[in-house]
Parts: sequence; structure tokens; C-alpha cells
Amino acid sequence: MICLSTTATDPAGALEQLRGNIEEIELLELRADFFAAGLAERPAGGGRAPPAEKQARSAAETLQRFAEDARRVWAERHPDRGPLAVILTIRRERDGGRYRGEEALRLRILERAVRQGGYAYLDLEEDLLGSEHGRAVTAAAERAGVRIIRSFHAPNGVPPDLARGAGNTAARPGEIPKIAVSANGSADLLEILEAGERLRQPRIVIAMGPYGVAARILSPLLGSYLCYCSAAGGEIAAPGHLTPAELNRLYRYRRLGERTAVYAVIGDPVMHSRSPEFHNEVFRAQGLNAVYLPLQIDDLRLFTDLSRRLRLQGVSVTIPHKSAIRKVLSGAEPAVEAIAACNTALRRPDGSWYGYNSDLAGFLAPLAGEFGRADDGGPALEGVRCTVIGAGGAARAAVYGLLARGAEVLILNRTPERAEALAAGLAGAAGAPRPRTARLERAALGEIAEYNRLLVQTTSIGMEPDEHSDPLEFYEFTGEEVAYDIVYTPPETLWLRRARRAGCRVIGGRAMFEAQAASQSALFLAQLRGEQLPARAPDGGNPLGARPG
Ligand code: NAP
Repeated sequence: MICLSTTATDPAGALEQLRGNIEEIELLELRADFFAAGLAERPAGGGRAPPAEKQARSAAETLQRFAEDARRVWAERHPDRGPLAVILTIRRERDGGRYRGEEALRLRILERAVRQGGYAYLDLEEDLLGSEHGRAVTAAAERAGVRIIRSFHAPNGVPPDLARGAGNTAARPGEIPKIAVSANGSADLLEILEAGERLRQPRIVIAMGPYGVAARILSPLLGSYLCYCSAAGGEIAAPGHLTPAELNRLYRYRRLGERTAVYAVIGDPVMHSRSPEFHNEVFRAQGLNAVYLPLQIDDLRLFTDLSRRLRLQGVSVTIPHKSAIRKVLSGAEPAVEAIAACNTALRRPDGSWYGYNSDLAGFLAPLAGEFGRADDGGPALEGVRCTVIGAGGAARAAVYGLLARGAEVLILNRTPERAEALAAGLAGAAGAPRPRTARLERAALGEIAEYNRLLVQTTSIGMEPDEHSDPLEFYEFTGEEVAYDIVYTPPETLWLRRARRAGCRVIGGRAMFEAQAASQSALFLAQLRGEQLPARAPDGGNPLGARPG
């Protein structure tokens, strides 16, 4: 179930957040600790606070009115869906919330609010069972038929006693145990998931922060009762919250279940990745019960454990794990070792992982449009003389791909030793002659003139925010070259614009990016359909163009 946690600073704002998300949620949590005034704060200006009883009465009335208004708004929109279940929470500052008032007053407000009605659930911290007043609030909630969420919070990271059962034992029969712990890395995430598994059902298990986002999305598969979210455009109630719309539209949360196949992009950082948009859209368009998540991993040694726990079937691999992931693989297409990089891995039925490099297929695919196709379907580059600018990771895939297609290559790099090392490393790898190398400077013009049928730009020069730089400013295009810049932000670099204006045929980095994603997608789809897995990353075509029916 999707639960919207309000973060507005007054009841009217919280109702607005409900209205704005009313189609996307099943539950509402009023985070009353976000209310700036009217609860239990001392009055501004240092005046005297009214007596506690009066404060508690007035705050409880505010909370009751809110619950009534929220249920009315819900009933008007969803007359057939039964009353809105609202969770009442006043989160203390030490638990990651905003409430800084006195504890006795907080408990008095909660006790009054549940007695007055309107709330289906009350979030009460587990330590309250140790105090008389805390037990009295618990008893009041039970008498009023309000279900207690017995919560344990560790906003600064996994506490040493989590594994020994911190927060696991306090919940009483009928209560819903909840742990919300910050995951500061992949080891924390694993520990939180393990601790969560020991809680009885129904339970709520939350790993806060970017390392826990994948587990939040997968809450229906991991046996968590609900997934808390924050409204778009407002503050977020806790680190790692998604919006209800993201959960429903991007991740199709309501359809996730035991039979959902799980895919992810792994990297660190990875939350900025656009890959979930692409792959989830393909799964949706193809009518497949599969989801694709961002999974931030800082320690790749934990990949196998995490993949088992999160039931991963396949992953895209991005920075900084493209090389290190090879240790996890029990097999890979030849390009993975030659390029020393794997960007796609699939789990085989025996649980082992097989690696591919779809960057290579993605790099080569747009070239077929310019040079035609050879008999095997790949771009016809036999004997084509090319210059590759750059000698980094992307250049390695490009040079390998060109050599594998029979092209002759000149590598230009600012640091010529790196170009040399790349040439030596790939010599013979694809059965092709050793590439030539030169320093990236005007003195190389003569060599470039010999290798200028295709020019491939793989450095980060010209990439935002460096859009005004040109790695080959000393070179005048003849207009006969094919110019290919793999940088895709901006869509057309200064260098590529210069080539186009000189009359060259040009290929932008977006074409490579889309082609590598399509190739990766073809691998995921083959696996999902139970087809024989290809030996190499295929030319992916257009998976969105192949909509069924
Ligand atoms: P990398 O391994 O760090 O290599 C960077 C390359 O750029 C090296 O050759 C480096 O030369 C050169 N370079 C950097 N700054 C320079 C400067 N100021 N002057 C001269 N040379 C400079 O990076 P990478 O992974 O290969 O990525 C390179 C670019 O490709 C990035 O912009 C990336 O976004 C893009 N890319 C695009 C796609 C796609 O799908 N379209 C895929 C992968 C990568 P030195 O050796 O002298 O340092």
C-alpha cells in the first residue's frame, strides 16, 4: 500500500497534499510534527506558553478536525472505496522528526487525539512501553480501536544492537512492528533487511536514504505492509522517499508481486540514472510483469547477497563498477574481457551471472546507417581508416569495436602513453592490426589526413559544462568525413556542429546511448520470454517500436 506522509506546515497544506495525490495512495500519514504552530511549540517571541492541558486540548482538536476533513475529501473523491485510513504521527526530533516540545505534552496530545477518533493507526515509538505515560497512550489507543504501529528509528545509521533484535521485540500482539533505519551503505541495507525479516507480519521495514530506495520500491515483494511517500514539490518526510506518482507510474507499484521479475541499474551514485524510465517503459509497452530499479551499491562484494535478497534477474552496470563486476561473473561475451568492462549482467537459471557489454553494440549500431551492413549484419567497416580521439574507457570499447569490424585505427590522446597502452592492450584482441597512436596536437594533422574516413570523438571535451571546447580545433573538416561524437550532453557538441556545417555526415552520442539501451533491453526481454540467451549483446533494434497489438 502506498502511504502519503504529509509534510505541510499546517492542516490546510496537508489537505492540499492529500488532494494532489488522492488517486495514487491507499493510506495517509499525518506527520503532525511538521505543523509549525498549534501543537506543542513554545510561542514565538518568548511569551508564556499556555498550560499543558490547554495546549493538548487545542492540538488534539486541530488533529481531529484534520482527520475529519481528510476523510471527507477522500469520501467525495472515492465514494466506493470505504473510509480513508489515517495514521497519526508526531515524530520526535531525535527520531528524525520535527517535534521539539516536551515529551509529556506530546503523549497527552496523542492520547486525546486517539480518544476523540478519526485515526485508524497511531505511530508510537517502541521505547514508550517502558514509561507509564507511554503505556497509558497505548491503552487509550487500544480502547479506541486504533491500531498501533510500534516504531523503532535510527536516523543516523544502523545501531550496533540491530542484529541482536533492537526494535524487534517491543511490538505487542495486534501491533504492527516497524523499523526505519538509515542505510549508509550496502552492508547497512543488508543488515536492515535481515533484521526486518525477523519481524512478524504485518511489518514495516524501511532502509532510509539512497541505498534503501530499491527496497522501498520492492516493499510488496519483501513483505513490508506499506511504502511511505512524500508529495511532489514539498519537503520530503524522510530520506529516500519517492512520490506516489513515481511509484505508480514509473515503477507500477500496485502491480508488483511475487511473480514480478526484478531488474536494476547498479552504480554509486545511481539515483540520477535515466535507465529506469527507459526500461520500465519497455516492460510496460511489452505487457511484461517486470520492474527496473535504481540500486546504489558501494561495495560490490555484497552484490551476490543483495541480488539474492532483492531477487534480481538482471542488471545494468554503471560507474564505478563496470570493471569490478567481472569478478562476479562466471562467464561473459569475449568483448567484456577485451574491453575490461561489463555493463549488463543476467542471472542464469543456476544462479550464476553472465556478462555482456552493450556499449559496444551501442557504439557500432549507428555506424551501419552510414557505412551499410556487412553480411553478418554489423556495420561494413572492413578497411575503413578511422581516427579515435581519446584513450579512456569509452575509447577502449570504440577501438575494440572498430578493430573487430576490420577497420584500421589511429588513436589520438592528450597523454600518448595511454593511447599506446590501449593500442598494445587491444593488439590482436580482435584479430586486427595494431592501431597507430599519436599525441592529440596539431603535429598529428598528417596522420589524421590518412585516417579520416571516420572520426570518433570519445573524450569529455565539449561535454556540458565544457560546451565551448573543441578537441580538434586545429583540424579543418573536408566535408567527406563521417564525424561521430559519443558525448550526448549537449546533443550536438561544438566539434560535431563544425563537422556538420562543413558538410560531413554526423552521428551524435544520443544515438549510441539509445542503441546500447536497446541492446541491453533485448537481453532483458530474451530472458523474460525464456528464450535462449544470446552469446553476444545484440543490435537491439527499437524495443519501444515493437509494441504488441
Ligand atoms: P575516461 O575514461 O575518463 O576518459 C576520458 C578521456 O578524455 C581520456 O582520453 C582523457 O585524456 C580525455 N580528456 C579529458 N579531459 C581532457 C582535456 N581537457 N584535454 C584532452 N583530453 C582530455 O572517460 P570515458 O568513460 O571514456 O568517457 C568519455 C566520454 O564519453 C564522456 O563524456 C562520457 O559521457 C561519454 N560516453 C558516452 C556514452 C554514450 O552512450 N554516448 C557511453 C560512454 C561514455 P587523458 O588520457 O590524457 O586523460
